[in-house]
Amino acid sequence: MAVPKRRQSNQKTRSRRAHDFLTPRQLTYCPTCGKAVPTHRICATCGHYQGRPVVNVVE
Ligand SMILES: [Zn+2]
Repeated sequence: MAVPKRRQSNQKTRSRRAHDFLTPRQLTYCPTCGKAVPTHRICATCGHYQGRPVVNVVE
């Protein structure tokens, strides 16, 4: 059986695991209605993006 010649360094292990974990979605608050919205997304409640109306929201 193949056996590692050297113990892998902490740096090597951490570098590999840098991509292993998901980070939570960044949230901001809509300046129009105040609801929490993911960044760079149109507000689902009022249809505004960066303070101006983009889509019509049907109730
Ligand atoms: Zn809104």
